[in-house]
Amino acid sequence: MKNAEIKRRIIDTCLWLQEKDLVVGTWGNVSVRIGDEIILTPSRIDYKKMEIEDMVTIDLEGNVTEGFRSPTTEKEVHRLIYAVRPDIGAIVHFHPLYASAMCASDSEIPCITEEMSQLIGGAIPITAEYIRAGEHEKLAEAAAKYIADKNAVMLRNHAPVCCGKDLDEAMTCCQVVEKSARCYLALKAAGMDIKTIPDELITIENHRFRYNYGHEW
Ligand SMILES: [Zn+2]
Repeated sequence: MKNAEIKRRIIDTCLWLQEKDLVVGTWGNVSVRIGDEIILTPSRIDYKKMEIEDMVTIDLEGNVTEGFRSPTTEKEVHRLIYAVRPDIGAIVHFHPLYASAMCASDSEIPCITEEMSQLIGGAIPITAEYIRAGEHEKLAEAAAKYIADKNAVMLRNHAPVCCGKDLDEAMTCCQVVEKSARCYLALKAAGMDIKTIPDELITIENHRFRYNYGHEW
């Protein structure tokens, strides 16, 4: 079997989502891109019972190249985001409390913290309308369009999708998205005047994080 170690890490990520209360049941899915293949979690398998043999590998056209299970029903969301964003190496879709609440609003999450400008690249966008889960293609097209050059997108009346250059970064992105949603909702609830980070500073900080962070004197 190929990529056993990365498959184990995908399962560990699912268990981590559960442990951190960032997902309900198996309504979350994780993928990693390796070269021109994508390894995905299977559909509807209890995370605690998941084994590396249950992982499904597809090619960039969506054909299964390894595994006997059906891939997550949200496979197309993963595949189309990888297709439009060569810089993304891992994707985590999860259903956390506060960011899911934001998905039911008509608002993006404005860029209110430095973590957002560094890791997400600014405000967290939201797709324009609710698309039911059965409409896989349409949902995937909306996700790939609205994420644009950000590392996260909120699917309307559904939940967020978080990305990163690797699994570690995608997991951190999950935490930043949920924290940002929580901060924003707290500020709104308190009726406070909300200050956002100016666009030009977001660009500088995002670039610094992507290319220079850890290499500065
Ligand atoms: Zn979902």
